[in-house]
Formats: sequence, C-alpha cells, structure tokens
Amino acid sequence: MTASRGADILDRILLLPVNDRELAANCLETGIERTPIYFAASMLCFVFLSYSYHDYAPFWLSTVFPIVLFSFAGLRIAQWLKAPLPETQNDINARLRRFAVESILLIGLLSLWPLMLVQYATPFLQMLTASNFAMVTLVCVYCMMHMRAAIVISLAVTPAAIFYLVFGVPFALGVGFNGIFLSTLICTGYMVHAYAKDFDVLIAQRRALQDLSHENFRIANIDSLTGLANRRRFFADLAERENITPSEDGYVIAIIDLDGFKPINDIYGHACGDRALAVTADRLEALCKDIGLAYRLGGDEFAIILDKPGDDEALMHLAQRTIDTISAPFNAGGNQLSIGASIGFARYPHACAILGKLYESADYALYRAKRMGRRCAVIFNKEHEAAMRNTGLLEYHLKSADIAREFVLVYQPMIDYRSGAVVAFEALARWTNPVLGPVNPADFIPAAERIGMIDGLTEHFLSIALDALASWPPHVRLSFNLSAYDICADNRAEKLIDLVHQRGIDLSRIEFELTETAVMHNFRAACANMEALRKAGARLSLDDFGTGYSSLSHLNRLPLDKLKIDRSFVCEIDTKDKSYKIVQSLSLLARELEIDCVAEGVENEHQAAILTAVGCHVMQGYYFSRPLARDAAEAFLQHHAGTDMQSAAS
Ligand code: C2E
Ligand code: MG
Ligand code: MG
Repeated sequence: MTASRGADILDRILLLPVNDRELAANCLETGIERTPIYFAASMLCFVFLSYSYHDYAPFWLSTVFPIVLFSFAGLRIAQWLKAPLPETQNDINARLRRFAVESILLIGLLSLWPLMLVQYATPFLQMLTASNFAMVTLVCVYCMMHMRAAIVISLAVTPAAIFYLVFGVPFALGVGFNGIFLSTLICTGYMVHAYAKDFDVLIAQRRALQDLSHENFRIANIDSLTGLANRRRFFADLAERENITPSEDGYVIAIIDLDGFKPINDIYGHACGDRALAVTADRLEALCKDIGLAYRLGGDEFAIILDKPGDDEALMHLAQRTIDTISAPFNAGGNQLSIGASIGFARYPHACAILGKLYESADYALYRAKRMGRRCAVIFNKEHEAAMRNTGLLEYHLKSADIAREFVLVYQPMIDYRSGAVVAFEALARWTNPVLGPVNPADFIPAAERIGMIDGLTEHFLSIALDALASWPPHVRLSFNLSAYDICADNRAEKLIDLVHQRGIDLSRIEFELTETAVMHNFRAACANMEALRKAGARLSLDDFGTGYSSLSHLNRLPLDKLKIDRSFVCEIDTKDKSYKIVQSLSLLARELEIDCVAEGVENEHQAAILTAVGCHVMQGYYFSRPLARDAAEAFLQHHAGTDMQSAAS
C-alpha cells in the first residue's frame, strides 16, 4: 500500500475535509485553539486522580506515568501551537492528518491510564475514576467537535465505557452512573456528527459570504464600462491620504475631460461613445502604470492621483503626454475617430491646503483649461483660489437677487448697412447687484446655469423682451440669446413657445441665438428643441461663429437661418489679413448655404465698408450703437428707420 493510499484511507476514516483547503485550514485552526482547554481539563482531573490513588496504586502508575504522559502530550501541543499555519493545500492536509492522528493517540493514552488504575481502586475510587474519565472524554469530544475525528474518538472510548459497565463498578450506583455516561456518550456522538456537518456548512457559508463581499467591493469600486477604478474609489483613495504625510511635492490630482466626446456619442451612437471611453481608459491606464492610478469619475471625466508628482514643469509635460496619448486616432465601428482632452491639476497642500477641496480646485482648473480652448491643461494656483471665492460670492448674491429690480435688458440694433434700416434688436441682459455692482453677463449667465436659476431668468428676460418687441414696428425682429440649458433641456422649446404665444406675438418676429458650445452639451436634445422652435415659426441664429467648435458639419446638420460672425474676427478685419480672409470665407459660406449673415462687433466705418465689400450687409456694433435701454432703443428706431447708413451710424 502506497503512502498516499494510506493517507487516503485515513482521511476517509477520520472524515477529514482534505479536498477543501479553507475547511481543512479552519478545522486545524479551531483544533489548535481548543486543544489547550482540553489539556487543562485533563490535567486537573489527572492531578486529582493521581492524588486519590497515591495510597493504592504503585508509585510509577499513580505519579511517574501521568508525569511522563503529560510531558510528552504538552510538548506535542506546544509544537502544534507554535508552528505557523501552512499555506499550501498539501501542507494543510498533512498537518490536519497528523493533528487528528496525534490527538486520537493522545486521547487513547490518556484514557489508558484510568483503565490501568481502576484495578487498584476501592468501589468509591472506581466511581470517581469513571466520572473523571467521563468528564475528560466529554471535554475532549467538545474540543474536537469541529473535526469528524471526534466521532471516531467517541466510538473508540465507548468500549472502555462498556468495560466499566461490565467489570469495573460492581455496585448499583456505578452501573447507573456508567449507564448515564454511556447514553451521554452516544448522544454526544450524535451531536458531534450534527455539529461537524453544521461546521462544514458554516465555513462554506462564511466563504460564500466572503466571496460575495469581495465581489461586491470590487463591483462597487470599479467602473463597469472601462474597468478603471470609479468615482467612489477615487474619493476613498483621496480620503485615505488625509492620514499620510505627502511627499515634498505633495499629492496632485488631475481631472481629465474629453473634448469632442459628446458629438461622437450624438453622431456615431452610444456604442462608438462607449468604445471611445474604453480606448481612453486603456490609454490612461497604460500611461499611469508607474506614476499613479487612473479613475473614471463618470461620463467623459477621468482622473489620476499622483503621489510623486514632481514640479509644475513635470506636470505640464505629463499633461502634454496625456493629451497626445488620448488624442491619437482610434477605430470605432469602422470609423476612424479622435477625441481631445483638457486637464485641470490641483496640488495638495501647496496650492490647495484642504484635501477635501482638492477635487473642487482641480475641477476649477479644468474649467479654466476648457475656457482656454481645446487640449489645454491648467494647474490650480492662488489666483484661481481667489477667483473661485469670487465665483462663490457671485453665486451667493445671484441666489438672493431681486430679479425684477436688479436685472434689466438692453437692446443693441442690427443694421442693414445698405439701407440703414434697423432689422432687429439683440436683447442683452444686465445685472447690477447692490453689493457687487454691475456684473458681466458672461459671468452671471454660466453662474445661473450652475446653480439652476437659468430657466427662471430666461423666462423673465423673454417676457420683458417680448413687451419691448410688441412696441416695435412689425418688420423689426427680436434677437434673443439662449443659454446651453435653454437649448439642451428636454422640451424647453415648448415652454418658450408658450411664453411667446401667451403674448399673442408671431414667432416669426423672433430670432433665437445659440452657440455651438451650448448645442454640444446635448446635441440630440438641442436638435429637438431647435426643430420645435423652427416649426413654430421662429428663426435660429448661430452666435459667435468662428470660435469654439465651429464645425462645418454642424452648419449642415443644424436647422439654421443665420450665422453671426464673431467679433474677434470683425474687430481685426481692417488690420489683419487672416481675419479679413476668414470673414470673407464665412460670408461666402453663408451665401452658399443660403442663410443670412451678420457681423457683430463693428466699431468703425472702415470695418463696415470692408464687410459690405465681402457681401455681409447686416451689422451690429458700437459703430452703430451701444446696447440701449428700452426707451432709447425706441428713440433710435424713430431716428433711424429707413435712413441711410451714415445717419444710422451717427
Ligand atoms: P453675444 O450674444 O455675442 O453678445 C454680444 C456681446 O458683444 C455683448 O456683450 C455686446 O455688448 C458686445 N458688443 C456688441 N457690439 C460690440 C462692439 O462693437 N465691440 C465690443 N467690444 N463689444 C460689442 P455682453 O452684453 O457683455 O454679452 C456677453 C455675452 O453674454 C453675450 O454674447 C451672450 O452670449 C451673453 N448674454 C448676454 N445677455 C444674455 C441673455 O439675456 N441670455 C443669455 N443666455 N446670454 C446672454
Ligand atoms: Mg448673441
Ligand atoms: Mg456673439
């Protein structure tokens, strides 16, 4: 018989769970834990018996034998306790097997001693011995309950009990006692069997629970689409750094936002959008391999935590590498696509002293980077901190502003330069706060969007502008600016159309101005709103064309009536050849697309003349008029209706 076959038979007899590493390890651990209890109980009983038999049994049996036995048993137990728990399944199995066999041998030897003693006993001592033996056996069985070997032990000691019953105790009390002992032993055997089964189930359940909680932890901290660590993990990792002293350069977090992701989603579909995110995640992960951990915070926003970030120059190098890596073209659904990225960095504790505000600071830096154009990176600094505080202040005053009193609209005319006639007025909002003074619309409109006030403001402005429009001649239109929210919120167009209808005004007298940047927030919803506005009769004008996205595909896809050439080109049309050529091309493009063209920001006659020469006849700018209060706008109308261009500009 080979050793492995022998081990196999032994495992079966002892019912050892050797095929289940965790169960075996648990059996071994629990056994080692409980052995000292068993040993201590035996010691107590045996010291007591040794003392009781001192005058009856020979010295070697009453004293020397138990001392040798206990020394040996104690030594073995000390070895079990000291040895570290093995790692591999084979080692655990071998240890468990040895542990079970040695335990049974030990119990056997410890049972032998009372049996040898009993021949020297008086009836009273016999009973005492039997009760001690019973107790030690029960403690032993209890201590080894988790191992099925205990059942074997119970059975092994049963003959000894029978021996007591038949030969050991001649009087009735002893017989009765041993009867109780025997039945207790059988019951215990059954209990042990049941417990051993429960123990297995318990361990299996504990393991299943552990697996589940590991899986739950993994799922809760991983972004399912990209496999990167997710937002929850990001903030947990950040919070962990609260208790760790940072390196000399501190910690840096980078927030990365993809440029041009939404158009991919909108134009090529969500599968391509998902692919873009997955590709970006893979690239970021590879890039961060040795420098930090990459996260997906949600949508098209990613992050990196850098524990050894280096100085600002190193950060800008990293930014460039990140932007270049992300911008490399990739294939999605047969399309060769590419996206860009903007990055905001914030360094703790140098630029941002409160770890909890690090994300906010990096997000602000990202916002600044986005404002600089595409594919830029900004490192949060003290000036940004001050600006952020001002933004907070602005939002605070905006929330408590008296809208009816603090906000007014002014109207800037758009002139047909050939006839000098006013064709429309653009309504522009003005806010004068009692504490902050006049606030630029370029600051308060985005702030109102951030704090969720823009819908109320737009509706208020539109109502005032419609009142003004009602007093203008029918050929003069109202040009009204829509924010990103106005153009991208679901069913927003219906609300605006309702407002116009309530005033009994024909929607064809209104031109809604929107920017491409605003449309890009949600291209699909923006298209739906634009279609609805146009269907209701309103005209749509693409504001600030030439800046931001300025995509020709948008000109093709969006339902537009007019293109407003941004004033950044118009103001240089007379000084920079490049600007002249851009304006010339845009004017031609509008003509080819059969949509109107307006030049904004015209400040002098020379610019107006050049615009006329390139075929752009409708103009707006300080040369004709600054934005006017409602009364002044009406007076302007009366003075300039149908006059020639010189009088319009005077
Ligand atoms: P915009 O729609 O492009 O408005 C034109 C801006 O150019 C206005 O600035 C106007 O005062 C300014 N402007 C006009 N002619 C000239 C010129 O000859 N030279 C120069 N340097 N500037 C000129 P404003 O009023 O500060 O508005 C800034 C932006 O804020 C607007 O740009 C528009 O996007 C937004 N805005 C203004 N009012 C509203 C509003 O009621 N609702 C929404 N959603 N946005 C508004
Ligand atoms: Mg405008
Ligand atoms: Mg504009």
